[in-house]
Amino acid sequence: MEQKEEQIGLSAKKSEDFNEWYNQVVLKADMIDYSSVSGCIVFKPNSYAIWENIQKIFDGKIKKSGHKNCYFPMFIPESLLKKEAEHVEGFSPEVAWVTKAGNTDLNEKLAIRPTSETIMYESYAKWVRSWRDLPLLLNQWNSVVRWEFKHAKPFLRTREFLWQEGHTAHATKEDAEKEVMQQLFEYVDLIENYMAIPVIAGKKTDKEKFAGADYTTTVEAFMPDGRALQMGTSHLLGQNFAKVFNIKFLDKDEKEKYAWQTSWGLSTRTIGAIVMAHGDDKGLVLPPKIAPVHIVIVPIIFKEKKDIVIAKSKEIAKKLKAKNHNVELDDRDGYTPGWKFNEWELKGVPLRIEIGPKDVEAEQLVLVRRDTNEKLTIKVKDLEKKVEQALNDIQDNLFKKAKEYLTKSIVEAHDFNDFLNAIKNRKMTRALYCGQTECEDSIKDKTEGATCRCIPFEQKHAKGKCVQCGAEAKYWAVFGKGY
Ligand SMILES: [Zn+2]
Repeated sequence: MEQKEEQIGLSAKKSEDFNEWYNQVVLKADMIDYSSVSGCIVFKPNSYAIWENIQKIFDGKIKKSGHKNCYFPMFIPESLLKKEAEHVEGFSPEVAWVTKAGNTDLNEKLAIRPTSETIMYESYAKWVRSWRDLPLLLNQWNSVVRWEFKHAKPFLRTREFLWQEGHTAHATKEDAEKEVMQQLFEYVDLIENYMAIPVIAGKKTDKEKFAGADYTTTVEAFMPDGRALQMGTSHLLGQNFAKVFNIKFLDKDEKEKYAWQTSWGLSTRTIGAIVMAHGDDKGLVLPPKIAPVHIVIVPIIFKEKKDIVIAKSKEIAKKLKAKNHNVELDDRDGYTPGWKFNEWELKGVPLRIEIGPKDVEAEQLVLVRRDTNEKLTIKVKDLEKKVEQALNDIQDNLFKKAKEYLTKSIVEAHDFNDFLNAIKNRKMTRALYCGQTECEDSIKDKTEGATCRCIPFEQKHAKGKCVQCGAEAKYWAVFGKGY
């Protein structure tokens, strides 16, 4: 039994070998598997259930604001993909193509969607005729393929990933800009208040914006290995695609106008962020609001009184299920309680209930928090209240810890030496910046890869000189190495 207990745990420590730790967590918590397709992963039920929760939450939000789901073909004819020049240039190195059907060469090769702007907007041009057809507010839940050649990392960088892509068309620029911000702040809410990961919201520089957009807004998180992670983006496409695809409408003033468009996406890479942000040396730690299982009940069974302990455990499970908690009762034979504790800790279940014969007699049970290991003996009559409270505390505590980490990870750099040191020490830096792309290129060269993560919406007085080139600064920007 001793040996078995060792096998399920992690051998790598998060603080010592982050990459190995991450790979062990996603495999041993039974989230993913590899297959014979290189660069792709299998989402096993333990990770897919997290994605389903993310979908449920975000889908509810967008439907409330009038968006509808739809589905477009995953194949995009080459001629269509090439219509918007900047867009195709941005994606072409990673596009996977279908060139054959059986033994027959296709007349026109088909791209497997890297994103759906072009295939959707061909239809938008047919559907949008008058101001009455606007706004058009559609979303797709699908997968996209981007054939990366960099080493794959589960959830964070794989050739196929799952996401949602929202695509809207509006009568005015103001309406479109409002939509861009509304969706970005839906992401902020989803990521901060459900995933318990604090983010910086801001605008991307021209160098980092989406290919074909007027501008891109982003939410950026910072991971414990010292790298920034883009969690979701929302783009103002302006009239760029409308002009190429001829999305025109007759406005109230009887004039024909091009529509204003947005697109926005959030992917399964956020699952990787949850693993990295909250996990520890025992495995995954899931925020209750995103966890597929909230509470696991492990009866402490001896030969005698087994029946009453199991009966009590079932009664507790029933009570908690009635309060809409997802509960697992682990009454499997052949495993020690200690082995079960390890397994459920590895899988990140936020709360564990232990109950033995003496507890049953005393009408009590033990609650154990996954995030702090804290043990709390409570009366059965207080069960619902105490569980609710503990889950809320865990959710709050995870966010608080992550927020403290983010705050101390951003170093304000007043000269370029500070800037270089901060990046070398695996921090992000906030610095005055001139806004010129050449300057951003120099920063990337000199730091071996740091990029401008965003220009935060929260700007304090930005007067002074650019940290790199000394020219008049335009704003405060956040730089760091990214995923
Ligand atoms: Zn500069």
